[in-house]
Parts: sequence; C-alpha cells; structure tokens
Amino acid sequence: MSERVTLTIDGKEVQAQKGDNLLKVARDNGFDIPGLCFYEKISRTGDCRLCMVKIQGRPGMVPACLTPVEGGMKVTAFDAELEATRKMLADVLLSEHNDDCITCDKDGDCGMQDLAYRYELETAKRIFTPVWKEIGQTQDASAPVLWYDSSKCIKCERCAKACLEVQGKGVLSMARRGIQSRVVAGTGTWSGSECDGCGECVQACPVGALVEKPVYGMRLKKKDVEKRVTTTCPYCGVGCQLELWVSHNKIMKVKGAGGAPNEGSTCVKGRFGLDFVQRPDRLKVPLIRKNGKFEESTWEEALDLVARKLGEVKAKSGPHAIAGLTSACSTNEANYVFQKFFRAAIGTNNVDHCARL
Ligand code: SF4
Ligand code: SF4
Ligand code: SF4
Repeated sequence: MSERVTLTIDGKEVQAQKGDNLLKVARDNGFDIPGLCFYEKISRTGDCRLCMVKIQGRPGMVPACLTPVEGGMKVTAFDAELEATRKMLADVLLSEHNDDCITCDKDGDCGMQDLAYRYELETAKRIFTPVWKEIGQTQDASAPVLWYDSSKCIKCERCAKACLEVQGKGVLSMARRGIQSRVVAGTGTWSGSECDGCGECVQACPVGALVEKPVYGMRLKKKDVEKRVTTTCPYCGVGCQLELWVSHNKIMKVKGAGGAPNEGSTCVKGRFGLDFVQRPDRLKVPLIRKNGKFEESTWEEALDLVARKLGEVKAKSGPHAIAGLTSACSTNEANYVFQKFFRAAIGTNNVDHCARL
C-alpha cells in the first residue's frame, strides 16, 4: 500500500502519496508552475525544463515533473531566481518558434502563447534573437486528418509519446538533432506511415504544430466557440465521451473529453467522423428506386412498401431470410428500436451494426 506523506511547497503543508509526481502534486494544490512537455497520460521527458524547482538539501534546480514526492521535502516553487530562469527558457523556446499567432489555428488555446504573455515576452523585451526562419522548416499536409508545421513545434515529444504509449502505434519520432529536430511520421510522410488518424497526437500537442485538418486555416478560437457540448460518441458501444466545439449550430471540432471510459482519447471516427451531422447532401426524405432511379417519396409510401416487401419475403422464405444492418450515424435510440423490430416483429437475430466493421 502506498504511503501518505507530508511535504511543504513554498511553506504550505501538502499531503500526497509517496512517489507521486511533484509537478502534479504542486499544481493540484494551487501552485501554477509552468511546463509544456508534461502531459499526464504519458511518461515524462523533462524536455522543456520550465518546471524547475528547488528542493532543500539538493544542489541547484530540479525539474518537478521528473521528481517523485518524498515525505519531509521542502520545495521552493517560486522565487526570483526560478522565475528568471523560466523566463529565460521561455525566451529561448520562443526564439526557435514561428510566433505568428495572428495566422495560427491555436491562437487563444496555446501553451506557448500563454507562456509568452505570462513572462511578458513581447518582441522588444526578448533577449534571444528569433532564429526559426534560418533553421529551415517543414510542413507535412499529407495526412487526411491533420497538419504538421515544424516552425510551430517546440519538440516536446508529447505527440510521439501519446502515439506510442496511449494508442500503441509508435508512428512518430524525432528526426535530426538539436535546434533542427522535428517530428516525422514513419520514415517520411504521414500519408506513407502507419497512422490511422486517431488524432491523439493533435490533442496532445500544446501548440499549433499539429492541427486538425478540417479546421486548418479557420483560426477557430476557443473564445469564439459558442458552445462546448459533452456528449457520447455514437459510433460504437465503448461510449467514449466527446467535447464538441459548436459554432453557428455546426460541429467545428471534436476533442476527446476527460474521464472514463476514454480519458480524452478517441478513434478516427469519433474525432473526425461527425461531419455527417451537417453534410448538405444528407438524406432528408425517403427515396424509392423506380425504373432504376431513386425518387423522392413520402414516409407513408416508403413504410408501406418496406412492410409489404418484408411481409412477402417472410411469408415465402421465413424470418431468417431477412437481415438488417443499421448505422452508427443513427441515434442510439433508433438503433435500439431497429434491433427490437428485427427480433420481436420479424423474428430473426440477423441484425448487425456498422460499428463492428
Ligand atoms: S503555436 Fe501558439 S505561440 Fe505559436 S504562433 Fe501558434 S498560437 Fe502563437
Ligand atoms: S493520428 Fe494517431 S496514429 Fe496517427 S500519428 Fe497521431 S497518434 Fe499516431
Ligand atoms: S508536434 Fe506538438 S506535441 Fe509534437 S513535439 Fe511538436 S510541439 Fe510537441
């Protein structure tokens, strides 16, 4: 059984389990220590170094995200030296970063931008000269669902670790070294890799380096989204929780919502497959094939036709000659009624659902 311990952070007594992550414990207790590479769902990298703290009895500064909690620890989370170091690190990060927020799809929802405002890194106040243009940047727009721009990438590795450790795919890695490093999918391009488009990497990215393709270039700002609706994904029986960003009565983007059962993850269908809801070519009236062509009809005519045809087949060949396949694009309630109709009214278990395909 894990041991409950007491430590102090900036003089405040805090309780935690021995071995807990110090950065998480500090944040959970109201200490807003910065940090861009920390992501709860993945193992730690300690890449960005922004969460440096001081621990009494240890030399220098240590990254809180790589430090397990011990009883009796005396932690300094904020002092002038730590804040000056964090500001310097943020300045370095920004010097390698294409900070054109005005044209960026993450404007208003970005860890790097928050950091720049927090440490007042307006251009005139920066120490380090911007170098991102000289590095030579790459964009990969080959995937159907996402867009990668190395000029926005802070090399935190959250995407690669999320792909490997959360989705078990391991599609992403860091290519080149140092200031030149960037994310690559497979051996070159996203489209040629084993990526299945789940979007876990996009959700993990704290900046505008990975963006969902359906909203790329729309400059969809968090504050402009009228509603964020938590709902259950209709596509299969897992019941993943989704957060829909809705604007002008349209689903603009889908994020995995935290908590059980999916803890923010989704498959490709949940994250990128809900556009059917607002497709203009969606059927709104029943169609009946007449003389080899579909023609619009009324519900009365369509239902009479279906009932008559099903009755004829059942009378001639029995209920098991009939099978039904229903759609995840229908509501759960409609799907329930559909299978009930097949089992109870027609008398067969020949019924299936596209979520199993
Ligand atoms: S990634 Fe963030 S900081 Fe960089 S340009 Fe986009 S919004 Fe600005
Ligand atoms: S979309 Fe999913 S499978 Fe593809 S690279 Fe990102 S996390 Fe990996
Ligand atoms: S793409 Fe995003 S998550 Fe991946 S390394 Fe770059 S900044 Fe980090």
